[in-house]
Amino acid sequence: MESLADSLTRRWAQPAPMAQAGFYYAPNNPGDDRAMCFTCNVCLVCWEATDEPWSEHERHSPTCPFVKGEYTQNVPLSVTHATSPAQVHSETSK
Ligand SMILES: [Zn+2]
Repeated sequence: MESLADSLTRRWAQPAPMAQAGFYYAPNNPGDDRAMCFTCNVCLVCWEATDEPWSEHERHSPTCPFVKGEYTQNVPLSVTHATSPAQVHSETSK
Protein backbone atom coordinates (compact mmCIF):
# COMPACT_ATOMS: atom_id res chain seq x y z
CA MET A 1 0.00 0.00 0.00
CA GLU A 2 1.06 3.52 -0.74
CA SER A 3 0.01 6.32 1.55
CA LEU A 4 -1.27 9.65 0.36
CA ALA A 5 1.79 11.34 1.82
CA ASP A 6 4.08 9.06 -0.17
CA SER A 7 2.18 9.81 -3.33
CA LEU A 8 2.44 13.57 -2.83
CA THR A 9 6.09 13.37 -1.90
CA ARG A 10 6.87 11.49 -5.08
CA ARG A 11 4.95 13.91 -7.31
CA TRP A 12 6.26 16.95 -5.52
CA ALA A 13 9.83 15.83 -5.68
CA GLN A 14 11.04 19.41 -5.69
CA PRO A 15 8.89 21.46 -3.31
CA ALA A 16 11.51 24.19 -2.93
CA PRO A 17 11.83 24.92 -6.67
CA MET A 18 8.04 24.89 -6.87
CA ALA A 19 7.81 27.58 -4.23
CA GLN A 20 10.60 29.59 -5.83
CA ALA A 21 8.71 29.50 -9.12
CA GLY A 22 5.72 31.12 -7.41
CA PHE A 23 3.56 28.03 -6.87
CA TYR A 24 1.65 26.99 -3.82
CA TYR A 25 -0.16 23.74 -3.26
CA ALA A 26 -3.90 24.15 -3.89
CA PRO A 27 -5.63 20.76 -4.29
CA ASN A 28 -9.24 20.53 -5.37
CA ASN A 29 -9.49 17.03 -3.91
CA PRO A 30 -7.37 15.00 -1.50
CA GLY A 31 -4.41 13.56 -3.37
CA ASP A 32 -4.62 16.20 -6.07
CA ASP A 33 -1.32 17.73 -7.10
CA ARG A 34 -2.87 20.98 -8.26
CA ALA A 35 -0.62 23.99 -7.86
CA MET A 36 -1.44 27.63 -8.34
CA CYS A 37 0.69 30.69 -8.95
CA PHE A 38 0.09 33.29 -6.27
CA THR A 39 0.60 36.09 -8.78
CA CYS A 40 -1.32 35.08 -11.94
CA ASN A 41 -3.46 32.26 -10.46
CA VAL A 42 -2.59 29.84 -13.25
CA CYS A 43 -3.42 26.26 -12.21
CA LEU A 44 -1.17 23.37 -13.12
CA VAL A 45 -1.80 19.70 -12.41
CA CYS A 46 -0.29 16.30 -13.17
CA TRP A 47 3.25 17.27 -12.30
CA GLU A 48 6.01 14.94 -13.34
CA ALA A 49 9.19 14.52 -11.34
CA THR A 50 11.10 15.85 -14.34
CA ASP A 51 9.01 19.00 -14.76
CA GLU A 52 10.81 22.29 -14.33
CA PRO A 53 8.50 24.59 -12.35
CA TRP A 54 9.84 27.75 -14.00
CA SER A 55 9.52 26.30 -17.50
CA GLU A 56 5.97 25.10 -16.88
CA HIS A 57 5.03 28.44 -15.38
CA GLU A 58 6.39 30.39 -18.33
CA ARG A 59 4.84 28.02 -20.86
CA HIS A 60 1.35 28.19 -19.37
CA SER A 61 1.41 31.82 -18.29
CA PRO A 62 4.00 33.80 -20.29
CA THR A 63 2.54 37.13 -19.19
CA CYS A 64 2.74 36.43 -15.46
CA PRO A 65 4.53 39.29 -13.66
CA PHE A 66 6.34 36.78 -11.47
CA VAL A 67 7.63 34.88 -14.52
CA LYS A 68 8.76 38.13 -16.12
CA GLY A 69 10.61 39.13 -12.97
CA GLU A 70 8.48 42.22 -12.42
CA TYR A 71 6.84 41.10 -9.22
CA THR A 72 9.83 41.62 -6.93
CA GLN A 73 10.98 44.89 -8.43
CA ASN A 74 9.36 48.20 -7.58
CA VAL A 75 10.85 49.93 -10.59
CA PRO A 76 11.97 47.83 -13.55
CA LEU A 77 15.49 48.73 -14.61
CA SER A 78 14.44 49.05 -18.23
CA VAL A 79 12.10 51.92 -17.36
CA THR A 80 14.80 53.73 -15.41
CA HIS A 81 17.23 53.53 -18.29
CA ALA A 82 14.65 54.39 -20.94
CA THR A 83 13.68 57.63 -19.20
CA SER A 84 17.25 58.81 -18.65
CA PRO A 85 18.21 61.50 -21.12
CA ALA A 86 21.13 60.81 -23.36
CA GLN A 87 24.20 63.04 -23.18
CA VAL A 88 23.93 63.86 -19.48
CA HIS A 89 27.69 63.94 -19.07
CA SER A 90 28.45 67.14 -20.88
CA GLU A 91 31.04 69.72 -19.85
CA THR A 92 28.47 72.36 -18.92
CA SER A 93 28.70 71.72 -15.18
CA LYS A 94 32.35 72.81 -14.94
ZN1 LIG B 1 2.22 33.11 -12.48
